[in-house]
Amino acid sequence: MVYYKTEEEIELMRKSADLLGRAHGEVAKNIKEGVSLNALDKIAQEFIQDNGAHPSFLNYNGFPGTLCMSLNDVIVHGLPSDYVLKSGDVISLDCGVFLDGFHSDSAYTYPVGEVDAETMKLLKVTQECLQKGIEECKINNRIGDISFAVQQHAEMHGYGVVRELVGHGLGQKLHEKPEVPNYGKRGRGLKIKDGLVIAIEPMINMGTRAITQDRDGWTIRTRDRKPSAHYEHTVAVINGQTEVLTTFKYIEEVYPF
Ligand code: MG
Ligand code: MG
Repeated sequence: MVYYKTEEEIELMRKSADLLGRAHGEVAKNIKEGVSLNALDKIAQEFIQDNGAHPSFLNYNGFPGTLCMSLNDVIVHGLPSDYVLKSGDVISLDCGVFLDGFHSDSAYTYPVGEVDAETMKLLKVTQECLQKGIEECKINNRIGDISFAVQQHAEMHGYGVVRELVGHGLGQKLHEKPEVPNYGKRGRGLKIKDGLVIAIEPMINMGTRAITQDRDGWTIRTRDRKPSAHYEHTVAVINGQTEVLTTFKYIEEVYPF
């Protein structure tokens, strides 16, 4: 069942999402060559807890961190570790905040130091995929319109669109109905109406769409070991208007690229 939110609930989700945006900004200030993934995870956890909220992912199904930290060929669900960032890496940081009963969810992929032009293009096109998906998230459209827009833009550039992992509704639970795939057909799926809140999250591979999972039971990476990118926003529809609840502005203020 899809749980449509009231205006009051969306107001609570706005607050959760704003804190999440600021948590991303705090982490972004500290991303550089030589910093460990564990150090970044600790910054995110402390910032969220110091602001009276809980990291949504910490202990979720046993996940050991605040951030999903997905490096280079890792698509999603990478774990914090003592790995130290080096020039040429790209790292996706996915984070969730639980505040006043509501989750928000957002992800951003960062280049570290000097990253090759081909990989920078993957990041740019994946951001464009997110934007195109958001543009289709409007009243009376259907979920398939979002999916189609993301898939078409990625495949136009020859990239692989991950099938096994999808966007999702969210609210009092981190994952609710509906599923929001990054592939699909126009005019199919749930009709978008007031109160819908979804996470739109393209996961786009430079090479093929095939994935593999590490023995840790979490880390999902590309089978061809080429890089992957992931950007995610929490998006609401209310009073006939689309509102992106999460924000990258705190990231972009301190980490332009
Ligand atoms: Mg996420
Ligand atoms: Mg998500």
